[in-house]
Amino acid sequence: MADDEILDPIQTPDDTEVEEQIRPQRLDDFPGQQAIKEKLSIAIPAAKQRSEALDHLLLSGPPGLGKTTLARIIANEMGVDIKASSGPVIERQADLSAILTSLEQYDILFIDEIHRLNHAVEETLYSAMEDFEVDIMLGKGPTARSMKIGIKPFTLVGATTRAGLLTPPLRARFGDTCRFEFYAPRDLQAIIMRSARILNAPIDDEGAFELARRSRGTARVANRLVRRARDYAQVKGDGVITREMAVAALDMLRIDGLGLDDMDKQIVRTVIEKFSGGPVGLNSLAVAIGEEARTLEEVHEPYLIQLGFMKRTQQGRVATPEAYRHFGLTPPEPPQGALF
Ligand code: ADP
Repeated sequence: MADDEILDPIQTPDDTEVEEQIRPQRLDDFPGQQAIKEKLSIAIPAAKQRSEALDHLLLSGPPGLGKTTLARIIANEMGVDIKASSGPVIERQADLSAILTSLEQYDILFIDEIHRLNHAVEETLYSAMEDFEVDIMLGKGPTARSMKIGIKPFTLVGATTRAGLLTPPLRARFGDTCRFEFYAPRDLQAIIMRSARILNAPIDDEGAFELARRSRGTARVANRLVRRARDYAQVKGDGVITREMAVAALDMLRIDGLGLDDMDKQIVRTVIEKFSGGPVGLNSLAVAIGEEARTLEEVHEPYLIQLGFMKRTQQGRVATPEAYRHFGLTPPEPPQGALF
C-alpha cells in the first residue's frame, strides 16, 4: 500500500512478497507478545463457545510489530474470514457501508491506521460497532433519504501506531486494547530461527542472536535482516548464517551494535549537533533531516525513545546524555543551580 511505503521506508516490494510467505498463521506460531496472546487465548475460545462475535479489539504499537499478522491469526483461530482496509483508504461513508454490508456473521473487519479515518466515516462506524446497523442513503439530491439497515454481527479489529489520536467515542467502542511491546532479543531470535527455517537459510543460535539483538525490537526488521544475512552468507561464506557472518553482514548494512541504522544515527546526531541537544520541534527536525515528520515520529522515534536516547517534551525533542555517550560525545553540563 502506498501509505505503508511512507511509513516504512525500509521495505522493498520484494520484501513484501517474502513477508507473506513467513507470516505466522496461528497463535502458537507467533513468538513474543505474551500478554496479548494470553488474553486472546481466553477471549477467542470463550466467544466461540458462546457462538458470538469476538469483542471489537484495538491493536496499538509501532509499525512492524505484528498487528496485521495478529488480526489475521485471530480470524484463523475464530474460523472466520477477514476483510482488510485502512483509515486513509476509506474515503466515503458509502465505501464503509459497502464493506460492512458484505461481511458474513462473525467476520473480522481489519482497519489499519484507524486513527486516520475521516470524521464522517468514523461516525458510520459507531452504530455499526454498537448496534450492527448502518445508515445508507437512498436516492440523490433533495429527495434523498437515509435508511438504517442491519448488518451481521462482526468484529472490528483496528490497528494504530498512534493510539493517542483516537477520538474518545471511537476508543470507547472497543471492548479491549492490546498494546504491542518491542520484542525482547530472545523472542526475536525465535522469530528469526522460524523465518530462516521457512526460507531454507541455515543459521546457528549465535548467528540468530546477533541478528536479533540488532533488530530494534521489531519483527519486520528481524525478518529483513535474516534475508540480508542469508545473501551475505551465500556469497561470502558457505551459506550458514553464523555469528561471524551476521556481524559482517550487519556491518556492511551499517547497522550498529544497538540496531541503529543511518537514519536513526542521523536523527540523534542532528538533535545534538544542529540543535545543541534540543529541545527541537518535530517539523524543524524533519526539515533538517529531509524526512517526513510522520515517518520520523512513527517509525524511528519510538525505538530511540525506548533506548533512552531521546525524549519528547512539551518544548520538543531532546537528546539524552546516553545518546551523547553512545556517539562518543560529552553531554553538556546541567545548568548551574539546576539541582536547587
Ligand atoms: P504491523 O501490522 O504491526 O506493522 P505486521 O503484522 O505487518 O506488522 O508484521 C510485519 C512483519 O513481521 C510480517 O512479515 C510478519 O510476518 C512479521 N511478524 C510480526 N510479528 C511476528 C511474530 N510475532 N512472529 C513472527 N513474525 C512476525
